[in-house]
Amino acid sequence: MTEYLCPLCKDSRHIPNPEDPDGLWVRCDCLNQEIVNRNLARAGVSFPKEDLTLDRLDIRFPNSVINKTSLDVASKMYDKLKQGVFPKALLCLQGPPTGPKEVIVQTLLYGAVRGGLSVNQCTMEQLIANHFQGGEVSLSEEFEKCNILCLNFGSEIQFNVSGNFLHSLVRLHWLSPRNYLFLNTSLGWDDLYKKYGESVTNLFVRYKNAAGFDRRVVFTEVEDL
Ligand SMILES: [Zn+2]
Repeated sequence: MTEYLCPLCKDSRHIPNPEDPDGLWVRCDCLNQEIVNRNLARAGVSFPKEDLTLDRLDIRFPNSVINKTSLDVASKMYDKLKQGVFPKALLCLQGPPTGPKEVIVQTLLYGAVRGGLSVNQCTMEQLIANHFQGGEVSLSEEFEKCNILCLNFGSEIQFNVSGNFLHSLVRLHWLSPRNYLFLNTSLGWDDLYKKYGESVTNLFVRYKNAAGFDRRVVFTEVEDL
């Protein structure tokens, strides 16, 4: 007797449509799951799926360092992405690299993939390298490669290039209805200013002052200091 990995479709990957048995067959859940897994790998989401939840963050980081406002922002963003819709604001999540920020970023990307959006997750170093060494990939090509460009910046050495790239990407974000920019950094507000200067900090506005600054990046500190 043959044993199937998926008894439901007998590994044919498709099943009759439960809502329209005479119509075209539809993807079996096993195929849907495989597509999600493949897209998660492509998006660079490496955390185990059971860890990708915003509800349990308080438990995982027991001293409750998490800023409730940013958790609220992240939850709203997650709900949108899960439905395949871009959030209205352009966000930059800030926090130490091994803290809750990383979990939130990965959870949001997980939501996006489940919502059918494609994700390109990279660092500013990679972006600079692709641009200058890898055959001159243009920023807009890089930005439009997937629905979401999730960019981690702040640890690169070429701050002038990074500053220019951030400006261009924010501009591309506002110009391209089909693509979304999502930024994250481990640099705090003061370090951001020290490293990039005013031309870049002028792009950002801190969350608590965010009202009325529609075209700026909302800078959201994940952890309470
Ligand atoms: Zn199946």
